[in-house]
Amino acid sequence: MSLHITELDCADLRFPTSAESDGSDAMNPDPDYSAAYVIVRTSDPEQSGHGFVFTIGRGNEVQSAAIQALAPHLVGMDLDTVLAEMGETSRRLVHDSQLRWLGPEKGVMHMAIGAVINALWDLKARRAGLPLWQLLAEMSPEELVELVDFRYLTDALTREEALTILTDAEPGRAERIEQLRAGGYPAYTTTPGWLGYSDEKLARLSREAVADGFSQIKLKVGGNLADDQRRMAIARAAVGPDVRIAVDANQRWDVPDAIAWMNALATHQPYWIEEPTSPDDILGHAAIRQAISTPVATGEHVHNRVMFKQLLQADALDFVQIDATRVAGVNENIAILLLARKYGKPVCPHAGGVGLCELVQHLSMFDFVAVSGSMQDRVIEYVDHLHEHFATPAVIRDGRYLVPSTPGSSAEIVPLTRQRFRFPDGEEWSDR
Ligand SMILES: [Mg+2]
Repeated sequence: MSLHITELDCADLRFPTSAESDGSDAMNPDPDYSAAYVIVRTSDPEQSGHGFVFTIGRGNEVQSAAIQALAPHLVGMDLDTVLAEMGETSRRLVHDSQLRWLGPEKGVMHMAIGAVINALWDLKARRAGLPLWQLLAEMSPEELVELVDFRYLTDALTREEALTILTDAEPGRAERIEQLRAGGYPAYTTTPGWLGYSDEKLARLSREAVADGFSQIKLKVGGNLADDQRRMAIARAAVGPDVRIAVDANQRWDVPDAIAWMNALATHQPYWIEEPTSPDDILGHAAIRQAISTPVATGEHVHNRVMFKQLLQADALDFVQIDATRVAGVNENIAILLLARKYGKPVCPHAGGVGLCELVQHLSMFDFVAVSGSMQDRVIEYVDHLHEHFATPAVIRDGRYLVPSTPGSSAEIVPLTRQRFRFPDGEEWSDR
């Protein structure tokens, strides 16, 4: 008997991370890492898909309501049809003529679509008995281009060019899958670098990062220049000359401030400067990149493929930082991976938060096998928070992500956590 979708089961989950300054940076001093969580339920209670949007607390209820607004598009639909035509399913949600007004293709509604699309991919991968990265990596180039919405991209990337990129990467897929299974995928860690941490904690966590096998760490900057110079020196002394130290301003600066600040920090040789200014300021990123010696990274708040296209066209960045829950899900991220490949820029995903490491590892591994074919200059962010709440947490060993082997997208938060951390009535919150 064929199955149909019965419900988008939404939950507002929040973790009280602000109590320990975990996640604190120059723009976000007190985040409570949160997930607007959705389970796509079907007429078979054993078959459901999990997805979420990462937020940092207040407003998570708005994000959850936006996910719920998509229910009429899916409830009652035949499951096989929805999952067999993921390109069409995605386009149907993204281009709803009334919901589109709330963006278009940006912000709360677009991220809600991403959560639902990702939950459907989770379900599709579970049904196939494959981890998501492998499901994607075994699709044909023709099937993959069918997932991509080329609307607004064709001046930079046509369907034919995308097909050529994917076809050219087909030889060697099997070897690269073996390489991934044997050695995993390189990671860097932001765990030492939160702005609210003391100098002692920064030094201790930096030393631990090196002992744990990481060859790159990242520090938050942009609060106070003298503090940043002192903290860079502490981190450098702790990790030695060979470990890369990236810095992240979380959009703190205007363009002239970014240039002056990064020129002042240049003696510490930061590996990249991340989000130096507004994520919408394409020309500003390009101007900063021209004026400083440090490479520029951005993307975690870049709201769709069109913005990534322009950042690449304007030569405004050196590292493309995709995020698993900012854009409209797996489909739009495949478009961005293809754009990055076309322009020859490495993709170094944003992760951390809650569950972002779990989700985005699948996209980087798929990229390695089927799109870019390379791990050169590529690293996935890793932050050691909240993994214990996941049914199949991301696993790091010697500074590398191990390959997920469980069917699905690794999005599932365990039921006990979904109960305890539900806002505002779960016991973690009702006691506060
Ligand atoms: Mg960042």
